[in-house]
Amino acid sequence: MDCSGCNKCTEVNCSIDTKCQQLDRSLMDQFGAISFPIYQTATFAHPGLGQSTGYDYTRMQNPTRKQLESIVAYLENGKDAIAFSSGMAAIATIMELFKPGDHFIIDEDLYGGSIRLFNEISKKNGLEYTAVNLSRDNVRKYIKENTKAVYLETPTNPMMNVTDIEELASVTKEKNLLLIVDNTFLSPYFQNPLDLGADIVIHSGTKFLGGHHDTIGGFVVVKDENLDERLRYIFKTTGAGLSPFDSWLILRGIRTLGVRLDRTQENALKLAKYLSSSKHVTKVYYPGLEDHPGYEIMKKQARGFGAMLTFEVDSVEFAHSILNNVQLIYFAESLGGTETLITYPITQTHADVPKDVLAKNGITDRLLRLSVGLEGIGDLICEFNRVFAIAEKETADR
Ligand SMILES: *Cc1c(COP(=O)(O)O)cnc(C)c1O
Repeated sequence: MDCSGCNKCTEVNCSIDTKCQQLDRSLMDQFGAISFPIYQTATFAHPGLGQSTGYDYTRMQNPTRKQLESIVAYLENGKDAIAFSSGMAAIATIMELFKPGDHFIIDEDLYGGSIRLFNEISKKNGLEYTAVNLSRDNVRKYIKENTKAVYLETPTNPMMNVTDIEELASVTKEKNLLLIVDNTFLSPYFQNPLDLGADIVIHSGTKFLGGHHDTIGGFVVVKDENLDERLRYIFKTTGAGLSPFDSWLILRGIRTLGVRLDRTQENALKLAKYLSSSKHVTKVYYPGLEDHPGYEIMKKQARGFGAMLTFEVDSVEFAHSILNNVQLIYFAESLGGTETLITYPITQTHADVPKDVLAKNGITDRLLRLSVGLEGIGDLICEFNRVFAIAEKETADR
């Protein structure tokens, strides 16, 4: 590889581990601070009438946010990334691209907050949608005259269904639909949907990009200039930009994205195998297991399998007992941080999802989701041995 003259993040030939360390040098301050400064300012002085430093008002632009946007665009091989105050703010902004009467197709297994947004807000605004299983169903059957976009996550939350992005993109291109992929679960470290034909990539920056469960943020990444202009216009008008301090936290999180994901993925695979061998676990959903139906597609379109895994136990009581007795593992919503979290989708992330949708997707009261962290794998397995023994005793006593 010829590395002569490489001094900023515009070349895509660096490894992703290197990219995570490459700040946009054109944005560096005059002192050469390696930790990019937090520009905690609402407004910017103009050099003179009709002149601008490129920064006018922080709702529109801010150097710390810009530095973060630059690295996220670089990691996703996009032209631009826009940083929002949350993942949901990013998704809500994308919905502003559409007008009453527009139709879109969504995957039926999505982050609960996205389903709530489409159901409660987008519908009221006159948008219609059809929810289908994009990992299985033929999307062509659902495309109508007024269809404008297809929206999905892969692997899905929490069922870990895998959709072939490239195959889907060939249909959306032919039919002139926007392909929108929420890439939160794998992060740009493992998957780059724009390279596979997606038009818009979404991230909840709260998760793997931030990586420490200490801030909320979101991203929209695009490669098309026109689309970028429309989104930037909505962004500056509706005003859900990420604050300078939160931008700095996520910038810091990205520095360690690679090592965190390599290690948490390693732990996740070991835990998936451990759980598969437990007599109280009836099903393990992890796309890194060779018998997972999406395994081959994952190998083709991603560089890894991620740190998220879902499993089902043999009774509701057993599931409840696990949640009541974890100690090393936290019983909490969210994912993508350094510590392992266990979530109960049916009462937490998916509490507002209609009952029939939950049932159709297999989200039962025996289903638990893990975001695997950086702890020693022996300790995580020890924790499960301990908790399973308690649960076994408690459920036997009934
Ligand atoms: C958390 C999450 C969101 C929402 O992001 P927030 O930052 O919590 O608003 C969207 N999509 C997925 C897949 C998520 O996990």
